Amino acid sequence: MAATSEGKAEGRRCNGRPWDGIADELWSDWRWQFRNRIRSLKKLSAVLERPVASLAAWSPVIRAYPFAVTPYYLSLLDPADPVDPLRRQCFPDPREIDPAAAGSEDPLDEEGAMPVPGLVHRYPDRCLVIATGVCALYCRHCNRKRMWRRKEPGGTRERLQTMVDYIARTPQLREVIVSGGDPLLLSERLLDWFLGALRAIPHVEVLRIGSRAPVTLPMRVTPGLCAMLQRHRPLWLNTQFNHPRELTPEAAAACERLLMAGIPVSNQSVLLKGINDDYETMRALLYGLERISVRPYYLFQCDPVRGTDHFRAEIWNGMGIMERLWRNLSGLCLPRYVLDCPGGRGKIPLQPISLLPEGEAGKHSFDKTGRMD
Ligand SMILES: *Cc1c(COP(=O)(O)O)cnc(C)c1O
Ligand code: SF4
Repeated sequence: MAATSEGKAEGRRCNGRPWDGIADELWSDWRWQFRNRIRSLKKLSAVLERPVASLAAWSPVIRAYPFAVTPYYLSLLDPADPVDPLRRQCFPDPREIDPAAAGSEDPLDEEGAMPVPGLVHRYPDRCLVIATGVCALYCRHCNRKRMWRRKEPGGTRERLQTMVDYIARTPQLREVIVSGGDPLLLSERLLDWFLGALRAIPHVEVLRIGSRAPVTLPMRVTPGLCAMLQRHRPLWLNTQFNHPRELTPEAAAACERLLMAGIPVSNQSVLLKGINDDYETMRALLYGLERISVRPYYLFQCDPVRGTDHFRAEIWNGMGIMERLWRNLSGLCLPRYVLDCPGGRGKIPLQPISLLPEGEAGKHSFDKTGRMD
């Protein structure tokens, strides 16, 4: 292999990995990235340079909840460090299938709020479409991980047409959130058709896409895809950066292509214990997002999905972090910290109650107009 490509491979910190020395054209080709995802323990053991037998404890975990990570995302993490914040988001953990684990696989009762299969209608004016069950990388903390092992036809035209029909006959719906899974992994033609069909409904004013592709497979955000999405504006895209190390040049370029196409990019992080539940990490993430013009939108309290307890931070800890962020960061950097209520009662903001300067709380009162004495 040529010295130059070796040097580049080193730059990606993927020496000795199965794709060592891969040409840049392939590395930056999302189809190559998708096809070469690491999905088996055999392939992972080669990456980790550990015998397959030593990964035996992960075998039942990935049978219950499939495993997949893109070479790109894998190149960002330290595979040997069990507490690496990126590794923990994608490597299996036996705690996911702990038989003593409490909770439901669908604590938000999304299945109970589906007037037609795959469409969650919880708020009067907007609904969420689960357009596919496929993701580039399966996040171990995902609140829809129950869907990964389903064999049902996700993302077929018939299924999407049923949703279009429901939305067309429900005039109070003014916004449709196309989520998943990752809708950017649908075929471009099918996604184009679906967005066009939604756009053709007179009462649908706004479209939104939920996709983690800018983080896990940024090369998917091609100029061609952006040109297609641009035709369906007003269209907003929400993604999920959880850690400042995910803000790579590739990810920033993907967001830039979307922004230049007139698609505002917002971020919904999940507060994850040991990954981003400390002030310094969260501040670095929010500063980094503002630098690449991505607006922090939500910080989610991790939903009580069965087998994700090890990811869940204390709400009071989250509130403490939020309070410090409010005191110190620009308003453009501040997400809203929210809890999605179990049972499907919707999201509620978790606001720090006192925003008075430290030591001032209790010294003042407000009159009805909000004037402080
Ligand atoms: C989160 C969510 C939405 C969108 O809510 P916003 O507050 O507008 O981001 C819509 N439908 C469902 C079912 C949701 O869970
Ligand atoms: S990208 Fe989203 S839907 Fe897919 S596994 Fe991650 S959190 Fe779940």
